[in-house]
Amino acid sequence: MSDLNFGSAFDYAPAPETTPVSMRKKYELFIDGKFVPPKAGKYFQSVNPATGKRHARIANGDAGDVDAAVKSARRAYEKVWGPMAPAERGKYLFRIARIVQEKSRELAIIESIDGGKPIKESRDVDLPLVAAHFFYYAGWADKLEYAFPGRTPKPVGVAGQIIPWNFPLLMAAWKIAPALACGNTVVLKPAETTSVTAMHLAEIFQEAGLPDGVVNIVTGAGETGNALVEHPGIDKIAFTGSTAVGKRIAKSVAASGKRLTLELGGKAANLVFEDAPIEQAVEGVINGIYFNQGHVCCAGSRLLIQESIHDEFVARLERRIETLRVGDPLDKNTDIGAINSKAQLGRITELVGSGIDEGATLHEPGCSLPEEGFWFKPSFFTGVTSSHRIAREEIFGPVLSVLTFRTPAEAIARANDTCYGLSAGIWTDKGSKIFAMADQLKAGVIWANTFNKFDPTSPFGGFKESGFGREGGLQGLAPYLKF
Ligand code: NAD
Repeated sequence: MSDLNFGSAFDYAPAPETTPVSMRKKYELFIDGKFVPPKAGKYFQSVNPATGKRHARIANGDAGDVDAAVKSARRAYEKVWGPMAPAERGKYLFRIARIVQEKSRELAIIESIDGGKPIKESRDVDLPLVAAHFFYYAGWADKLEYAFPGRTPKPVGVAGQIIPWNFPLLMAAWKIAPALACGNTVVLKPAETTSVTAMHLAEIFQEAGLPDGVVNIVTGAGETGNALVEHPGIDKIAFTGSTAVGKRIAKSVAASGKRLTLELGGKAANLVFEDAPIEQAVEGVINGIYFNQGHVCCAGSRLLIQESIHDEFVARLERRIETLRVGDPLDKNTDIGAINSKAQLGRITELVGSGIDEGATLHEPGCSLPEEGFWFKPSFFTGVTSSHRIAREEIFGPVLSVLTFRTPAEAIARANDTCYGLSAGIWTDKGSKIFAMADQLKAGVIWANTFNKFDPTSPFGGFKESGFGREGGLQGLAPYLKF
């Protein structure tokens, strides 16, 4: 082992984000270009996961509100957005992208308060990508016939879009930008624990002068999402979330004529070969699992290390997790923020308990956690076998399961031994090995000598129980078009 010393954690002075933000105490629904109270007058509480305290009341939309939103989207589709010249639609998207950029600091802070992710991620990853998605799809709005040469692409109609809580604004952008660029209108249902930034995005739509009804946002929980899925006025459902809910939605829309794309869970394998640049690979593995508290569908949650470097790699990982800073999401030095909700913390704790019960060894840093709010230490398990629950089920938290392999063939067999197929990583010095492995890995996204890199021009989506359909890139246009 080299004598490189990662050192112990530095003591950093607090560096909290101080830019003032204007969050409201109450958020209504966004229907037909206006903020309106829910018909039944019901609200639920949004909690700041870093403190566990309630910080906003969110409208709880029901089937009646969903119906109003779908009708508004239909009107806008038939009367305004559908007939509009594609280049004009593109101008609105460019305008939205520019306003997102202007307001990105404020939006990043609100995202971190409402969802718990560190400000350096919401500021440097989520928000730049949100703007980039609107810019990218704005460019396609009047060039669809070049994206699909020799065909005549037409919008599908009204899209119902349901998103999870791990990248609230980014998932909204992934869904809304291509739908609008293709001439569709939208009813979006954000996740119940992270609805706030979607409503600030609605304000941006107003500021951009987006015609009424082109995007409607109905907040609420699973019942609200279900009402959207079952509404007969919807032409297409785009869902990102858990495999369990995705399967239910697939059954519900079967034979309804509605189009469907599903972006579901994952259990990605990060394969590290003995010829990999070890220090880079340690950083990549850390980024792959601890980024956004592991609340990432494509997180590299299974680390497959070639047996010959196992001990050295684990020792380095152990030292590195000691230096990760867990705490206030609004502090610019924070690496690991808060777990998104009490329920998610419960799921992580239960699965970690199963890992210990099944005989794996838990490695966790000595750091202390804040007393209030929802937190979990960045941890990893060694001595994991493929049959352990922690190697099979999505933990969706900052917990890594380490397994080993001897040969490339064994690495492939172990990596593919999962019901999921969303992403994978390969760490090796040999380009030929990257191609050989990538060819055999059953995963929609494969990173080589890096991890968790996103770009609006790159398609993203899964195999097997990770879903079907692609978002991002030229491929992300197709689900919103008929030919
Ligand atoms: P979830 O499935 O519980 O919820 C996702 C969304 O679906 C939420 O808005 C929720 O309110 C809604 N919903 C719940 N029940 C519903 C129903 N019966 N009908 C319609 N809508 C319903 O998932 P989650 O816990 O919010 O998110 C975490 C999951 O999302 C993880 O499994 C993760 O892997 C997955 N995810 C996948 C991707 C991807 O691109 N593949 C991206 C992000 C998250």
